[in-house]
Amino acid sequence: MENFLELNINAEIIKVLEELKITKPTLIQELSIPKISENMNVIMQSETGSGKTLAYLLPLIERIDYEKRENQFIVLVPTHELALQVNEVLSTLGDKSSLNIKSTVIMGDVNIKRQVEKLKEKPQFVIGSPGRILELIKMKKISAHTVKTIVIDECDKLLDKNNLNIVKDVIKTTLRDRQLVMTSATLTEEALSIGESLMKSPKIIKCNDDSTINPNINNLYIVCDRRDKILILRKLMASINPRKAIAFINKSDEIEILTTKLKYHGLKVDGIHGSFVKNQRQKTMLDFKSERINLLVSSDLSARGLDIEDVTHIFNVDLPEDINTYVHRSGRTARGDKSGTVISIISPKEIAQLKAYSKKLNFNLTEKTISHGNIEDVAVVVKNYKKSNAPSDKRSKPSEKSSKPRKNTAKKDKRDKR
Ligand code: AMP
Repeated sequence: MENFLELNINAEIIKVLEELKITKPTLIQELSIPKISENMNVIMQSETGSGKTLAYLLPLIERIDYEKRENQFIVLVPTHELALQVNEVLSTLGDKSSLNIKSTVIMGDVNIKRQVEKLKEKPQFVIGSPGRILELIKMKKISAHTVKTIVIDECDKLLDKNNLNIVKDVIKTTLRDRQLVMTSATLTEEALSIGESLMKSPKIIKCNDDSTINPNINNLYIVCDRRDKILILRKLMASINPRKAIAFINKSDEIEILTTKLKYHGLKVDGIHGSFVKNQRQKTMLDFKSERINLLVSSDLSARGLDIEDVTHIFNVDLPEDINTYVHRSGRTARGDKSGTVISIISPKEIAQLKAYSKKLNFNLTEKTISHGNIEDVAVVVKNYKKSNAPSDKRSKPSEKSSKPRKNTAKKDKRDKR
């Protein structure tokens, strides 16, 4: 499909999309928009960065009843950052057109009074976490009976055992004939069957058969001792000087320590995880978006749904604990039609797990090493090393060599040990 006109999208919205360089619907948009417009229940799966947000927002915008001052759509999301992002898309479309689109973000751990004030404006879209939205429905600040559609974004996360009951409670407060739309890049069998049990004759739209990696992502890995992972991360940052990179860590409590170390070494870096206060999280995200920092150290909080422009590199300092997390972390790069690189920094023990991910997700994996500050193929480095008649210990020798202080950087490298 060549344009949004064929999907019966409002001409003004099409014009705004054109300004944003969005002219041709992606596959998930082409397949989902007509079904959502027809008020069908939809479960959609498509790879990260493929335009799922617009796939559900565009048909819902077409169905806004501007005559009625009431809440019409609820979008449930797992994180504050994602809520702000969906809200921003709606604000942009509203501000740049004459359409009176109104939306508000409702999240837990934030002053409820301000949210109540915002709700008095009767936004058509209420975006946020299931817990706080349910609380405000019970307080009669959100009018659940006027809601035409509930979107469950990142549905496999929101339908897991921690969130399922609250999501079900939110659904129960709305009328039986309201529409349900669920979306994710990774749809587990469990999420799919729960989704189906909650919906009347859902239309399942899968743009890929299984969880999959965006083909525009180059997947690399570097093997090192566990204790050298941070040193390798610093070398990668120095070698690549990425525009924007995210380093993922499994344990939230290590984020602050790592960030402090990296700052000490002069990197433009900050950290983010779930237990940081919302204001601090927001400031860090703004710094990252505006390129005041070019490395974000994060827990998996940032892995879901976040659409930050021009993230060029993802570093897995810890290997993701499950395959879907690999997909979501990787999906923070190569958004839209861009490409990106994922580099997993792994210990020898983690090689088998990473290879299992690549086999299951069917992506190519290339081993690299850092030699004299350059990222090189392991094979090339070994060959060059042999040429100089060095003993042929395949992996450790070249990387040992690469960590030798260089002439004019000796002072800096003295601080290398973490
Ligand atoms: P999403 O998967 O919804 O997070 O969207 C990923 C990125 O793709 C966002 O930056 C969107 O603005 C962009 N995008 C969405 N739809 C299109 C499209 N049809 N053509 C080009 N870019 C798009």
